[in-house]
Amino acid sequence: MATGRWPAAAVDLAIALLIGGTVVHALRSGRAVGAGAFLCVVNSIGCAVACAIIGPTAAPWIYLVLMTNFFITGAKQAIAFNLLLTATVLLLPGMYSQQIDRVSAAVTAALVTLFAYLFALRVSSDHQQLEELASLDALTGLSNRRMMESALDEALQERRVGARHYGLLIIDIDHFKDVNDTYGHAAGDAAIADLAAILKFEMRRHDHVYRFGGEEFVVLLVVDDHAGLRAASERLRQAVRNGLRGPGGRITVSLGGAMVGDEERWQDWFSLADAALYQAKNGGRDSSVIVGAPDTVDG
Ligand code: GH3
Ligand code: MG
Ligand code: MG
Repeated sequence: MATGRWPAAAVDLAIALLIGGTVVHALRSGRAVGAGAFLCVVNSIGCAVACAIIGPTAAPWIYLVLMTNFFITGAKQAIAFNLLLTATVLLLPGMYSQQIDRVSAAVTAALVTLFAYLFALRVSSDHQQLEELASLDALTGLSNRRMMESALDEALQERRVGARHYGLLIIDIDHFKDVNDTYGHAAGDAAIADLAAILKFEMRRHDHVYRFGGEEFVVLLVVDDHAGLRAASERLRQAVRNGLRGPGGRITVSLGGAMVGDEERWQDWFSLADAALYQAKNGGRDSSVIVGAPDTVDG
């Protein structure tokens, strides 16, 4: 604008408005994938048009666009747009007067694309690793409490649309403090890891086990009714009873369970199962109690 190059200024302004508008839309709607792809299109076409209008002065922008495309959209899409942009700019009349300049620009564009791609790969693998670290329990390799909370929330939402029936079991090791106090913390850790392995092995399709914390585990199951939940609970109790051994011999668990009802928050559903667990403990341990089921099964 300052030098009176109105077509170039208009293109710049249009690009800035499109980018700003897309970013605001993505922030407001929370939908970044489509916005990212659109930004990649605006970036690439805008840069090609700028080169066509302004000429060689616009060349440095190409490298910026080649890099940023990897940050705003998927790697495959970014590579495709980068190839198209590079080819278009290289073929533009008036961009490069000498053949050697054209070759040099092509090599630089290829290197920028390569390093931006490698960097994007590394960021995505770090991201995946962080996600795993944040969702898995270090001792047992099971999903942790954070994952459990979102799974219970999802189960409540599914129940609202009547898609599936879910049951929740809380499993707590009996007299676990004795194991720790008598045989040491390492023996306690080994028992927790063994219990996790047994529970994982016993999970059926659609069922999922979480380490809630300490020596407490939570299982989220797809079951038809109380009877189904009680059968599953009893199956798990027996599997642990038959399979879990510590330095002092057999280790048992108590279980409390509840079918999903019309709770608003997962904590309310969880409290029901926790109250049932308390009953199972009071009833002598190595037993399971399901809220609302006609009777309790003892070991
Ligand atoms: P109850 O039958 O009533 O459940 O008795 P308990 O002794 O199992 O129950 P309590 O909740 O009093 O004790 C749980 C113990 O679990 C306390 C703590 O030392 C131990 N604990 C919790 N997390 C871990 C862990 O990650 N490793 C080990 N080794 N011990 C743990
Ligand atoms: Mg406990
Ligand atoms: Mg316990």
